[in-house]
Amino acid sequence: MNLSSSEIRRLLTTSDPTAVDALMEEAERVRDEVYGRRVFMRGLIEVSNHCRNNCLYCGIRRDADCRRYRLSPEQIMDCCRVGHELGFRTFVLQGGEDAWFTDERVCQLVRGIKEAYPDSAVTLSLGERDYDSYARLREAGADRYLLRHETANRVHYGRLHPAEMSFDHRMQCLRDLRRLGYQVGAGFMVGSPYQTLDTLMEDLRFIADFRPEMVGIGPFIPAAGTPFEQEPAGSVELTLRLLAIIRLLHPQVLLPATTALGTLHPTGRERAIAAGANVVMPNLSPQDTRALYSIYNNKLATGSEAAESVADLRLRMQAIGMEMPVERGDFKGKS
Ligand code: SAM
Repeated sequence: MNLSSSEIRRLLTTSDPTAVDALMEEAERVRDEVYGRRVFMRGLIEVSNHCRNNCLYCGIRRDADCRRYRLSPEQIMDCCRVGHELGFRTFVLQGGEDAWFTDERVCQLVRGIKEAYPDSAVTLSLGERDYDSYARLREAGADRYLLRHETANRVHYGRLHPAEMSFDHRMQCLRDLRRLGYQVGAGFMVGSPYQTLDTLMEDLRFIADFRPEMVGIGPFIPAAGTPFEQEPAGSVELTLRLLAIIRLLHPQVLLPATTALGTLHPTGRERAIAAGANVVMPNLSPQDTRALYSIYNNKLATGSEAAESVADLRLRMQAIGMEMPVERGDFKGKS
């Protein structure tokens, strides 16, 4: 759908509830046309909270005073086994940029998962690496890679990250991943400090041009002990409008109802689905490490955010007329 910039600005700022309702309905209609009334599930395994980076917003940044953990390959394989039994056919290995996860170790893990579960997709979200590293992981069988661009505005990027981190490198990583044939996930936080309507418009333009196969957006939530701990959380309403607009700009996109949204609103996930989202990512990490992956305050990892409650989640989805099939849930369309 061709939404003009002025139309998008109007949709992001209007206080007319009829216009917002119409936006949500159209986003659902477009999602249903491409994917049907189906929500794909991914099992999220938070492999490590060690991180060499110092992003100003993140609760597991290098300088954060948090208890660190790292899952062993055996623990990760165990999570996949449990997940596969629960019906997950995508495993997302996400973590801080932890030097322990060398190419060799990650390749071995990816191969192990693909061998044990050839019907499943492996998604990595391990931050910025170089081209050759991404190439090795892809060669080992990784299907997808999530790396939010965080903001498409260079100056804004510089205010969210320390000087040692580079906007150009992050964008280069996304291009490298695309070139290597990964299904690529970009995305950003809604309401991050210094974000403006103009920077959001740049994010949307970037998404419309780059056309990532997945887009992860969720509200910024302050994290204790970070430079942004006193900053206000992002808006649930604005996040929902952005989800709907992204669905209209890029109908085939895989769009998760993120945990951050569920954390800020008890029915955040359902509302995201009603705004055109079609992916949920319950937490498959071992229960005793979930609280340690504290990227922001009060992060949900229980109830329907927990993989072991997938039956519950399925019922919640059925209640809004959505099925949750047991399948990989690949991108539908040309990248
Ligand atoms: N290290 C990997 C990377 O950089 O892509 C993956 C882990 S990182 C913690 C995953 C995402 O968490 C980031 O891309 C960021 O958008 C999100 N995040 C971090 N801190 C957050 C916060 N305070 N509120 C909301 N989202 C946050």
